Amino acid sequence: MVETDIAKRGVHSPRVLEVMRETPRHLFVSPDQERHAYEDHPLQIGHGQTISQPYMVAVMTELLDLRPEDCVLEIGTGSGYQTAILASLAREVVSIERQPELAEDAADRLHGLGYTNVLVHCGDGTLGWPEGAPYDAILVTAGSPGVPHALKEQLAMGGRLVCPAGSRDVQQLVKIVRTETGFVETTGISCIFVPLIGQQGWPDGAD
Ligand code: SAM
Repeated sequence: MVETDIAKRGVHSPRVLEVMRETPRHLFVSPDQERHAYEDHPLQIGHGQTISQPYMVAVMTELLDLRPEDCVLEIGTGSGYQTAILASLAREVVSIERQPELAEDAADRLHGLGYTNVLVHCGDGTLGWPEGAPYDAILVTAGSPGVPHALKEQLAMGGRLVCPAGSRDVQQLVKIVRTETGFVETTGISCIFVPLIGQQGWPDGAD
Protein backbone atom coordinates (compact mmCIF):
# COMPACT_ATOMS: atom_id res chain seq x y z
CA MET A 1 0.00 0.00 0.00
CA VAL A 2 2.72 2.47 0.99
CA GLU A 3 4.70 1.92 -2.23
CA THR A 4 1.86 1.88 -4.74
CA ASP A 5 -0.74 4.16 -3.18
CA ILE A 6 1.38 6.67 -1.29
CA ALA A 7 5.04 6.94 -2.40
CA LYS A 8 4.29 6.63 -6.13
CA ARG A 9 1.60 9.30 -5.80
CA GLY A 10 4.02 11.93 -4.53
CA VAL A 11 4.56 11.60 -0.77
CA HIS A 12 8.35 11.66 -0.42
CA SER A 13 9.16 12.27 3.26
CA PRO A 14 11.17 9.19 4.38
CA ARG A 15 9.97 9.61 8.00
CA VAL A 16 6.31 9.75 6.98
CA LEU A 17 6.66 6.73 4.67
CA GLU A 18 8.48 4.76 7.37
CA VAL A 19 5.79 5.44 9.98
CA MET A 20 3.04 4.61 7.49
CA ARG A 21 4.78 1.24 6.90
CA GLU A 22 5.11 0.54 10.62
CA THR A 23 1.61 1.52 11.82
CA PRO A 24 -0.79 -1.46 11.79
CA ARG A 25 -3.98 0.02 10.28
CA HIS A 26 -5.83 -3.29 10.74
CA LEU A 27 -5.75 -2.73 14.51
CA PHE A 28 -7.77 0.49 14.11
CA VAL A 29 -10.77 -1.05 12.32
CA SER A 30 -13.41 -3.60 13.36
CA PRO A 31 -12.63 -7.30 12.72
CA ASP A 32 -15.05 -7.46 9.76
CA GLN A 33 -13.13 -4.63 8.04
CA GLU A 34 -9.63 -5.99 8.70
CA ARG A 35 -9.25 -7.57 5.28
CA HIS A 36 -9.71 -4.11 3.72
CA ALA A 37 -7.33 -2.31 6.08
CA TYR A 38 -4.50 -1.99 3.53
CA GLU A 39 -6.69 -0.77 0.69
CA ASP A 40 -6.41 2.93 -0.05
CA HIS A 41 -9.86 4.17 0.94
CA PRO A 42 -11.77 5.27 4.05
CA LEU A 43 -13.59 2.61 6.12
CA GLN A 44 -16.59 2.89 8.42
CA ILE A 45 -15.75 3.03 12.14
CA GLY A 46 -19.31 3.46 13.49
CA HIS A 47 -21.36 6.51 14.50
CA GLY A 48 -21.43 7.55 10.83
CA GLN A 49 -17.69 8.27 10.90
CA THR A 50 -14.70 6.93 8.95
CA ILE A 51 -11.01 6.13 9.31
CA SER A 52 -9.39 8.31 6.65
CA GLN A 53 -7.89 7.11 3.37
CA PRO A 54 -4.19 6.22 3.95
CA TYR A 55 -2.99 8.42 1.07
CA MET A 56 -4.79 11.41 2.59
CA VAL A 57 -3.33 10.63 6.03
CA ALA A 58 0.16 10.61 4.49
CA VAL A 59 -0.36 13.84 2.51
CA MET A 60 -1.69 15.75 5.52
CA THR A 61 1.06 14.42 7.77
CA GLU A 62 3.76 15.43 5.28
CA LEU A 63 2.28 18.94 5.04
CA LEU A 64 2.71 19.37 8.81
CA ASP A 65 6.56 19.14 8.52
CA LEU A 66 6.76 17.51 11.95
CA ARG A 67 9.92 17.54 14.05
CA PRO A 68 10.50 15.12 16.97
CA GLU A 69 10.18 17.92 19.54
CA ASP A 70 6.80 19.18 18.24
CA CYS A 71 3.57 19.33 20.20
CA VAL A 72 0.58 18.58 17.94
CA LEU A 73 -3.15 19.24 18.25
CA GLU A 74 -5.41 16.94 16.23
CA ILE A 75 -9.14 17.59 15.74
CA GLY A 76 -11.16 14.44 14.99
CA THR A 77 -9.55 11.42 16.68
CA GLY A 78 -11.90 8.91 15.02
CA SER A 79 -10.26 5.49 15.27
CA GLY A 80 -6.95 6.95 16.48
CA TYR A 81 -5.02 5.81 13.38
CA GLN A 82 -3.92 9.29 12.30
CA THR A 83 -3.20 10.06 15.97
CA ALA A 84 -0.81 7.09 16.08
CA ILE A 85 1.01 8.34 12.96
CA LEU A 86 1.40 11.81 14.52
CA ALA A 87 2.50 10.35 17.87
CA SER A 88 5.32 8.45 16.13
CA LEU A 89 6.65 11.64 14.57
CA ALA A 90 6.22 14.21 17.35
CA ARG A 91 6.81 14.65 21.10
CA GLU A 92 3.17 14.89 22.15
CA VAL A 93 -0.29 14.74 20.55
CA VAL A 94 -3.45 16.23 22.03
CA SER A 95 -6.42 14.85 20.11
CA ILE A 96 -10.05 16.01 20.40
CA GLU A 97 -13.02 13.87 19.36
CA ARG A 98 -16.65 15.00 19.47
CA GLN A 99 -18.23 11.52 19.79
CA PRO A 100 -17.71 10.21 23.35
CA GLU A 101 -17.70 6.51 22.35
CA LEU A 102 -15.11 7.05 19.62
CA ALA A 103 -12.95 9.13 21.97
CA GLU A 104 -13.02 6.42 24.63
CA ASP A 105 -12.36 3.57 22.20
CA ALA A 106 -9.49 5.42 20.52
CA ALA A 107 -7.87 6.31 23.85
CA ASP A 108 -8.08 2.68 25.00
CA ARG A 109 -6.71 1.42 21.67
CA LEU A 110 -3.79 3.87 21.59
CA HIS A 111 -2.82 3.20 25.19
CA GLY A 112 -3.15 -0.55 24.62
CA LEU A 113 -0.76 -0.27 21.68
CA GLY A 114 1.77 1.53 23.86
CA TYR A 115 1.39 5.14 22.70
CA THR A 116 2.29 7.06 25.85
CA ASN A 117 2.53 10.55 24.33
CA VAL A 118 -1.16 10.92 23.38
CA LEU A 119 -3.97 12.65 25.27
CA VAL A 120 -7.51 12.14 23.90
CA HIS A 121 -10.24 14.54 25.02
CA CYS A 122 -13.93 14.58 24.17
CA GLY A 123 -15.32 17.94 23.09
CA ASP A 124 -15.80 20.49 20.34
CA GLY A 125 -12.43 20.60 18.61
CA THR A 126 -13.36 23.67 16.56
CA LEU A 127 -12.49 25.59 19.73
CA GLY A 128 -9.14 23.82 19.99
CA TRP A 129 -7.69 22.95 23.38
CA PRO A 130 -6.39 26.21 24.85
CA GLU A 131 -4.90 24.52 27.93
CA GLY A 132 -2.17 22.96 25.77
CA ALA A 133 -1.53 25.89 23.42
CA PRO A 134 0.52 27.00 21.60
CA TYR A 135 0.94 24.05 19.23
CA ASP A 136 3.71 23.54 16.67
CA ALA A 137 1.24 21.79 14.37
CA ILE A 138 -2.54 21.47 14.19
CA LEU A 139 -4.36 18.94 12.02
CA VAL A 140 -8.10 18.92 11.36
CA THR A 141 -9.34 15.57 10.04
CA ALA A 142 -12.92 16.59 9.22
CA GLY A 143 -14.23 18.97 6.54
CA SER A 144 -14.92 22.54 7.68
CA PRO A 145 -16.63 25.52 5.99
CA GLY A 146 -13.45 27.49 6.80
CA VAL A 147 -10.41 27.26 9.04
CA PRO A 148 -11.63 27.81 12.64
CA HIS A 149 -10.21 31.06 14.08
CA ALA A 150 -9.68 29.47 17.49
CA LEU A 151 -7.26 26.99 15.93
CA LYS A 152 -5.25 29.70 14.15
CA GLU A 153 -4.92 31.54 17.45
CA GLN A 154 -3.53 28.40 19.15
CA LEU A 155 -0.68 28.01 16.62
CA ALA A 156 2.86 28.72 17.81
CA MET A 157 5.01 31.15 15.84
CA GLY A 158 6.25 29.14 12.86
CA GLY A 159 3.47 26.62 13.50
CA ARG A 160 1.67 24.76 10.68
CA LEU A 161 -2.05 24.06 10.45
CA VAL A 162 -3.69 21.74 7.89
CA CYS A 163 -7.47 21.68 7.47
CA PRO A 164 -9.85 20.44 4.75
CA ALA A 165 -12.02 23.50 4.01
CA GLY A 166 -14.83 24.06 1.53
CA SER A 167 -18.39 22.95 1.00
CA ARG A 168 -20.20 20.10 2.70
CA ASP A 169 -19.56 17.86 -0.34
CA VAL A 170 -15.98 18.66 -1.33
CA GLN A 171 -13.08 20.47 0.29
CA GLN A 172 -9.49 21.45 -0.44
CA LEU A 173 -6.56 20.95 1.88
CA VAL A 174 -5.61 24.35 3.29
CA LYS A 175 -2.21 24.83 4.92
CA ILE A 176 -1.57 27.85 7.15
CA VAL A 177 1.81 28.86 8.55
CA ARG A 178 1.97 31.43 11.34
CA THR A 179 4.72 33.99 10.77
CA GLU A 180 5.85 37.16 12.58
CA THR A 181 3.71 39.19 10.19
CA GLY A 182 0.55 37.06 10.10
CA PHE A 183 -0.75 33.85 8.54
CA VAL A 184 0.43 32.54 5.16
CA GLU A 185 -2.17 30.34 3.49
CA THR A 186 -1.76 27.89 0.60
CA THR A 187 -4.37 25.62 -0.95
CA GLY A 188 -3.67 22.05 -2.03
CA ILE A 189 -5.50 19.02 -3.35
CA SER A 190 -9.24 18.36 -3.28
CA CYS A 191 -10.65 15.93 -0.76
CA ILE A 192 -13.91 14.69 0.76
CA PHE A 193 -14.21 14.43 4.55
CA VAL A 194 -17.07 13.90 7.00
CA PRO A 195 -18.18 17.28 8.40
CA LEU A 196 -16.51 19.12 11.25
CA ILE A 197 -19.45 19.81 13.56
CA GLY A 198 -19.13 22.57 16.12
CA GLN A 199 -19.25 26.24 17.03
CA GLN A 200 -16.66 27.17 14.38
CA GLY A 201 -17.57 24.39 11.93
CA TRP A 202 -20.88 23.11 10.53
CA PRO A 203 -24.02 23.26 12.70
CA ASP A 204 -25.06 20.17 14.64
CA GLY A 205 -27.25 17.86 12.52
CA ALA A 206 -25.08 18.25 9.41
CA ASP A 207 -23.53 14.78 9.86
N1 SAM B 1 -8.32 10.69 11.64
C1 SAM B 1 -9.32 9.73 11.99
C2 SAM B 1 -8.79 8.31 11.88
O1 SAM B 1 -7.62 8.13 11.53
O2 SAM B 1 -9.56 7.39 12.18
C3 SAM B 1 -10.55 9.88 11.15
C4 SAM B 1 -11.29 11.10 11.47
S1 SAM B 1 -12.92 11.13 10.81
C5 SAM B 1 -12.62 11.39 9.11
C6 SAM B 1 -13.42 12.73 11.43
C7 SAM B 1 -13.70 12.72 12.91
O3 SAM B 1 -13.94 14.07 13.32
C8 SAM B 1 -14.95 11.94 13.30
O4 SAM B 1 -14.60 10.97 14.24
C9 SAM B 1 -15.88 13.01 13.90
O5 SAM B 1 -16.67 12.53 14.96
C10 SAM B 1 -14.88 14.04 14.35
N2 SAM B 1 -15.41 15.40 14.54
C11 SAM B 1 -16.32 16.07 13.80
N3 SAM B 1 -16.50 17.31 14.31
C12 SAM B 1 -15.69 17.41 15.39
C13 SAM B 1 -15.40 18.44 16.35
N4 SAM B 1 -15.99 19.64 16.31
N5 SAM B 1 -14.50 18.19 17.30
C14 SAM B 1 -13.88 16.99 17.38
N6 SAM B 1 -14.10 15.98 16.52
C15 SAM B 1 -14.98 16.20 15.54
